[in-house]
Amino acid sequence: MTDGWLSIDGEDGDLDTPEFNEVDTDVDDVEDDAALELALAAARAEFGEFDEDLADLTEKNNTEGWPVLAIVGRPNVGKSTLVNRIIGRREAVVEDFPGVTRDRVTYEADWNGKRFILIDTGGWDRKVKGMAAAIAAQAERAINDADAVAFVVDATVGATDTDEAVVEVLRKSGKPVILVANKADDALLEMEATSLWSLGLGEPYPVSAQHGRGSGDLLDQIVKVLPEEGKGRMRGVGPRRVALLGKPNVGKSSLLNAMAGSERVVVDSVAGTTVDPVDELVQLKEKWWWFVDTAGIRRRAKEASGHEYYATLRTTAALDRAEVALILVDSSEPISEQDVRIISMAEEAGRAIVIAYNKWDLTDEERRHYLEREIERDLVQVPWAPHVNVSAKTGRHIERLEVAIEAALAGWETRVSTGRLNQFLASIVQSNPHPIRGGKQPRILFGAQVATSPPTFALFTTGFLEAGYRRFIERRLREEYGFDGTPIRIMMRVREKRSRK
Ligand code: GDP
Ligand code: GDP
Repeated sequence: MTDGWLSIDGEDGDLDTPEFNEVDTDVDDVEDDAALELALAAARAEFGEFDEDLADLTEKNNTEGWPVLAIVGRPNVGKSTLVNRIIGRREAVVEDFPGVTRDRVTYEADWNGKRFILIDTGGWDRKVKGMAAAIAAQAERAINDADAVAFVVDATVGATDTDEAVVEVLRKSGKPVILVANKADDALLEMEATSLWSLGLGEPYPVSAQHGRGSGDLLDQIVKVLPEEGKGRMRGVGPRRVALLGKPNVGKSSLLNAMAGSERVVVDSVAGTTVDPVDELVQLKEKWWWFVDTAGIRRRAKEASGHEYYATLRTTAALDRAEVALILVDSSEPISEQDVRIISMAEEAGRAIVIAYNKWDLTDEERRHYLEREIERDLVQVPWAPHVNVSAKTGRHIERLEVAIEAALAGWETRVSTGRLNQFLASIVQSNPHPIRGGKQPRILFGAQVATSPPTFALFTTGFLEAGYRRFIERRLREEYGFDGTPIRIMMRVREKRSRK
């Protein structure tokens, strides 16, 4: 089996994989069973043995409990280069949502069969003021969610003041730290890297992320310090996690107060550090919820209004840690680019989404008329997101938010059995076949839902499915199975011409 998932650079994975029978192939009735057998036979005929490939994909999309490594360091030290070196670029898969891989902060990696999650804290704008403090704060956030940290230093520069500030944070965290001396491109630089012992973080690992030098030793060390069971998306454990998002002044603090009243607990997420409390445990009508990154919204809002850039970073960080995004839009003003951007970020991050149109008390009939037009025009990409028209000020419909959040999470975690899915796919292929292109008609042979949260589908096809057709499939999936409040991912693998050996 050498064909890869349709990927940008065509590289193939070499992961060791479990057997196919570990993939969920529940079948609910005889009819589903028959559809599944047919689809499996068709796919095997065209793809040969594809079971391992599918099992691998399923495994890769379920990262619960994987250990987490945070990559931390100043701008320009080579963090992104190191991330690419570690993940080997094997994960770029054609997906229906452009930008999914572009803005991602977390990646899946493996070394000698040990899988782990990478959190990249990169993407810094060099011109932003207050850099050292911002980097230290960002590092703190990443460290909270990690089992170990790779701290990257530029070996050609040595330790700077900013590096020292991050070292403080790392020490206090008590997490295992691996000191990476990057850009050690030759033996001389490798020698010089030993001066980084002075940082007090133990042995520096000289690496050239660009050329690969030393990366094997580094990876050996990484998998050595990572625990077996890690913090990878600890779903289903404790209260669910909500990111409360929206542009400044939209009413986030007001809404949180109105929802929670006094039933909220601010928790210091890292004991013994100077970290700002970031998450709040909030009791709504039915249950407790984690509102991530909300403590200090008011204080930070000021800072954010001047710095769109920081606002974006914080939104990314909150999304990364949340399961569902509760996004506030000011209904009394025209929908802005910033509103649309926040919603797109949540969608691209693959989170469940609920939209709250706040300040409803300020709208009149005319405004509501225009709002409807704006929603049709600007928010077409998320027609599936439940919305509630609320007022943090009067309390209007606030009790409906929890219900909407629950519904979105349910959609996010919906799983369709492989039998049902193939029955469904067979029926739509029959009733609405793909348009003929160049004398050929791409067909879907087999499909499986390889993940939930968000629902992710892998399709095995005889030809490239156009974006329009994939959107059609998504629409039909939604009609059939719900998926309220959640993005859907569709990946496909196209049968290649099999070479005769
Ligand atoms: P980040 O800002 O920390 O993510 O850094 P990047 O990964 O974007 O790298 C910053 C610059 O350093 C780029 O021009 C890279 O090509 C370069 N770079 C990264 N790793 C190495 C390395 O191992 N050796 C050398 N010489 N340059 C490197
Ligand atoms: P944040 O920056 O998103 O946290 O927004 P705030 O909660 O600080 O609210 C910004 C301003 O909008 C404050 O003056 C609030 O009193 C006001 N505000 C918030 N929600 C509502 C609402 O539902 N109706 C009205 N009329 N004003 C609101």
